[in-house]
Amino acid sequence: MYSQDSISGHRRGRPEPTPEMLSGLACLICTTDYRDAPGTEAVVVSHRDGRQLLACRGTCARMACGAVDGLDETPPPLAERVRGHRSGGS
Ligand SMILES: [Zn+2]
Repeated sequence: MYSQDSISGHRRGRPEPTPEMLSGLACLICTTDYRDAPGTEAVVVSHRDGRQLLACRGTCARMACGAVDGLDETPPPLAERVRGHRSGGS
């Protein structure tokens, strides 16, 4: 019999997204906080646990998903993301 414990490997190479990234408040790549950089345009580049992950349009987006414009999705407004972050559990 084989033990299943050692098989469930962790994917390495990428840091875990922070709560700010999971709330769409920070760039997944350069960690710019969009609350501090209102001029930075964020685009959706990935999903995790049903949430949209964002990156700055341009280089960051291309690093994250291969397209400078990100995925074909529109993130909610920053104010809405901030509200969701604050009301989010734990
Ligand atoms: Zn960025």
